[in-house]
Amino acid sequence: MYCRVIVDIVHENVAKPFTYRIPEGMELVPGQRVAIPFGHREKEGIITELTEESDIEPEKLREVLHPLEEYAAVPPELMALAEEMARKAHCPPAETLRLMIPAQMRGGRIHARTERTARRTVSETEGHAALEKARPGSKRRKLLELLTDGEEHTIRELSEQVRDPGEALKKLQQDGLIRIENRETMRSPAGIYAEPKDPGYALTEGQKEALEEILPGLKKGEGRFLLHGVTGSGKTEVFMKAVRETLKEGKCAIILVPEIALTPQMVAWFRGRFGSVAAVIHSRLSAGERYDEWRRIRQGEARVVIGARSAVFSPVEKLGLIVVDEEHESTYLNDRQPRYDTREVAASRCGREKAVLILASATPSILSFARARRGDYTLLEMPCRVQGRPLPEVEIVDMRRELERGNRTVLSGVLRKALKECTARGEQAILLMNRRGYNSFVSCRSCGYVVKCPKCDISMTYHLGSSDGMLRCHYCGEERRPPETCPECGGHYIRYFGAGTQKVEEEVHRLLPGVETVRMDYDTTSGKDGHGKILEEFRSRRASILIGTQMIAKGLDFPQVTLVGVVAADLALNLPDYRSRERAFQLFTQAAGRAGRGQHSGRVILQTYKPEDPVIHFAAGQDYRAFFESEFRRRRNGLYPPFTVLGRVLAESGTEEAADRAAEEADRRIREILAGHPEWQRKVLTVLKDTPSVKYLKGQFRKHVVIKALVSTETDAFFGAVTELAAAGAEGAEIRFEINPATMM
Ligand code: ADP
Ligand code: ZN
Repeated sequence: MYCRVIVDIVHENVAKPFTYRIPEGMELVPGQRVAIPFGHREKEGIITELTEESDIEPEKLREVLHPLEEYAAVPPELMALAEEMARKAHCPPAETLRLMIPAQMRGGRIHARTERTARRTVSETEGHAALEKARPGSKRRKLLELLTDGEEHTIRELSEQVRDPGEALKKLQQDGLIRIENRETMRSPAGIYAEPKDPGYALTEGQKEALEEILPGLKKGEGRFLLHGVTGSGKTEVFMKAVRETLKEGKCAIILVPEIALTPQMVAWFRGRFGSVAAVIHSRLSAGERYDEWRRIRQGEARVVIGARSAVFSPVEKLGLIVVDEEHESTYLNDRQPRYDTREVAASRCGREKAVLILASATPSILSFARARRGDYTLLEMPCRVQGRPLPEVEIVDMRRELERGNRTVLSGVLRKALKECTARGEQAILLMNRRGYNSFVSCRSCGYVVKCPKCDISMTYHLGSSDGMLRCHYCGEERRPPETCPECGGHYIRYFGAGTQKVEEEVHRLLPGVETVRMDYDTTSGKDGHGKILEEFRSRRASILIGTQMIAKGLDFPQVTLVGVVAADLALNLPDYRSRERAFQLFTQAAGRAGRGQHSGRVILQTYKPEDPVIHFAAGQDYRAFFESEFRRRRNGLYPPFTVLGRVLAESGTEEAADRAAEEADRRIREILAGHPEWQRKVLTVLKDTPSVKYLKGQFRKHVVIKALVSTETDAFFGAVTELAAAGAEGAEIRFEINPATMM
């Protein structure tokens, strides 16, 4: 018997499986991990198939050393998925296979935790006889007494009764009276599980209608849905009911949420609803806990998985349902190699494993909504909030007027008044400021000089607090003291412009002394459980106002919030990216959606210097359809995705010349490839060598070649060739090829 093995080395030359002989008596299955000799070393690999014959001469064949686990770590469906992903991402399968198991399993860096146990092996009478013979008061006698019940006892438990029982136990084993063994145990991250609870809501019409479509699909094992439900329409309850049904059918479910949504409350909530059949995977788990949750899933003990994007690879058997909540979130795109889109992976798994897919959002991505309209997904709409609660009213405040009136602060008169009233009523407010820090940048009023990071060519941000009065680069963390005089012209008029979360917080304190606030941004959430603590502070109502960046706009449910202020809407609208309008609309709508989720109705104030911008209007009217139509048209006219695919070869180097040369060379080779393939050439709209808007980052100069092409199989093939080109590397520069990257900056 032979087997084909993908060796765990990511290199083009090792991309194909290698054949090994299976030693006599060794039982192996596809998907199982094995130790194998490779070159002069021992390596790990995964079996792709077992074969009766080999394509290699017998004397050259080497043997599998031993299996790494008793079972297939990667079940067949995930083996197929890894293969498909590798093909699509133009990378060796070893790379996609790594996604399928916890990272620390590779290289044997983590093991199942075991505990040593002892149990009697001889009959009760023999045990008793041995006990009688043992010296009274001896460790041996005490141990035999403890083990008379014939049950398995952990050594830890025995040590509580007998001090240092090691030697005595060893002797008992040598005498053939007991057996000492290692038993696997689980590190359970949640400790004790709460009793499963169901709040037993009377479902809304929208929830009922959605479930009427989804539930029959679950029985048949088919259906792809886009659940478009306004904020507060109770989408989570729909997932819960769908998961219930999936479990009833004897199948498993995976629920994907953005990492930020995996707060301790959320975790407790899922555990509360599904008890120990739920596994929750999030970044706060230790490697050991993560591994044990993975094993609970692999062994079928956990049948509902809740986690961020990597949970899509959970090795559940009999998959019945995958939910992608807040499907518009850009975190579902994995930017690192191997690149993948979680939504596509989920769709592929559901197709292969006959499971139902639900994508859900209040603001679906343009791509998903376009697909639903084309009929690829069944569109389910929930246009009303639960319990007939109204959507919050949105008011637009023209900040240019404020300036005319002499208000130079970041808070308009309307927002000031609303904050006062809201806190006076004992309710809570959220202020969204899409930029961290205190002031956005420091510049010279005389000559216009702006203080930039010496490593990144990005203006530095002024911070107060822990890094008192320092300028910090948000890309690389570089810090420096603000200059007293302008280094360019020597002028003394160095001024601070714009504002960040810190500045907003300071203004609120001035306006409402004594009112407690919490701030949530990259600077305050860096600790292990930074998010959780801040949100808890707000949830428990110790703080009345939550100030933060886009982090706070996502899926949070605080019933006491009646006021949401978007302090500077323009910040989100003006990013140099074709998706900035989509992101801005999502941000405003999601932020507005945090208001009025409880008994009291909500109010939203949107401050902008561009009140005439259509995106501001669509967001104010919470009119997703109108926004979609306008954006869809704009993308079609401008030939942006989903009508085209964007790719870019990014070259980075310590010197500008080397980066430029690498980009130049890539550009030349790309044109050469196209010249040789007229059928590819026809699908390509532009190939442009250019300097990205961030031209210097973390000490590296950057150049890129941007490619825009029509969506087609020819483009896939062409991009495959460009991927290979980039993988071959460049002289004096790092180069890589990105397809539809999360940012083009
Ligand atoms: P969405 O994700 O659609 O914004 P959530 O799923 O967070 O909304 O639900 C909002 C709130 O409504 C939650 O507190 C939830 O427990 C509650 N809820 C859900 N369904 C119902 C219902 N049928 N009746 C009453 N409350 C509900
Ligand atoms: Zn920097």
